[in-house]
Amino acid sequence: MSTVPHLRPSPITPTADFERDGVQHGFLRLPYSRDDSAWGSVMIPICVIRNGNGPSALLTGGNHGDEYEGPLALYDLARTLDPKHVSGTVIIVPAMNYPAFRAGTRTSPIDKGNLNRSFPGRPGGTVTEKIADYFQRELLPRTDIALDFHSGGKTLDFVPFCAAHIRPDKVLEAKGFAAVEAFSAPWSMKMLEIDAFGMFDTAAEEMGKLFITTELGGGGTSRAETVRIARRGVLNVLRHAGIVAGAVEMQPTRWLDMPSGDCFSFAEDDGMIETMIDLGEPVEEGKVLARIHSIGRTGAAPQEIRARMSGLLAARHFPGLVKAGDCTAVVAVLVD
Ligand SMILES: [Zn+2]
Repeated sequence: MSTVPHLRPSPITPTADFERDGVQHGFLRLPYSRDDSAWGSVMIPICVIRNGNGPSALLTGGNHGDEYEGPLALYDLARTLDPKHVSGTVIIVPAMNYPAFRAGTRTSPIDKGNLNRSFPGRPGGTVTEKIADYFQRELLPRTDIALDFHSGGKTLDFVPFCAAHIRPDKVLEAKGFAAVEAFSAPWSMKMLEIDAFGMFDTAAEEMGKLFITTELGGGGTSRAETVRIARRGVLNVLRHAGIVAGAVEMQPTRWLDMPSGDCFSFAEDDGMIETMIDLGEPVEEGKVLARIHSIGRTGAAPQEIRARMSGLLAARHFPGLVKAGDCTAVVAVLVD
């Protein structure tokens, strides 16, 4: 065995065979020795649906443990997708960061790992780093198209959109936007990240993979509408990729762009947030998006959060209290 740490084999053992035809419901078994289970494991659910040679899709939810549209759509798809309607392979991991998902938290209760900031991961690292490493070295390489579901979690809420990133490779970029269009969320986003380092998205894109993602709502729950969007979207993407038979059920979508870091607004004080406009409403540059009221004393003027560009409100802070540094609002520009 190699002594170079990142060349060690992954400690994760899949109980499903990626080359076998049919439906397999199994686990990614990750050894995790602890007080209540000396030789215990984390059992991450995985479903492999294969029907002969063909393209391969990797469908993931629960990268953050408090986002529910992806897991709802993916547990459902794993239960219902008939391999007779598949050409190629569909790998479904509905709850990637399973310890976080079980706890209903964004990050893992085991090591506080944010899986979407842990790539490329380490085979000898924390539990979260081991999960990242397995996706980096075992699952992404066997993928043609990856769809990673996100929502706002407990602290953000979004207008429902599917997204791909601006990419240096314009052919891959166009393929990404075409897949986003096929997903057919009410909104489609040319997405900018606050900090892309360590993200699953970045790992997939650096490997030259087609990668799309979503933000479908938030608040630590789901809504009937956003779950419907997720279920329709995942099937549409599989049809678009030629993996599931049938025509894409196209729905009207409106494209949004995040042209610069001026999209994001952050709180500079702790306090109670008053949202001044609602998600999806138009925004003029300079308009007050939210006010943050001091709660430690009476008589203090609220901090005003003003839009630094015109567009529409694409995301907002969800809980009623904010801390300095919290992202309070995201403005996106409507693309004609
Ligand atoms: Zn997320």
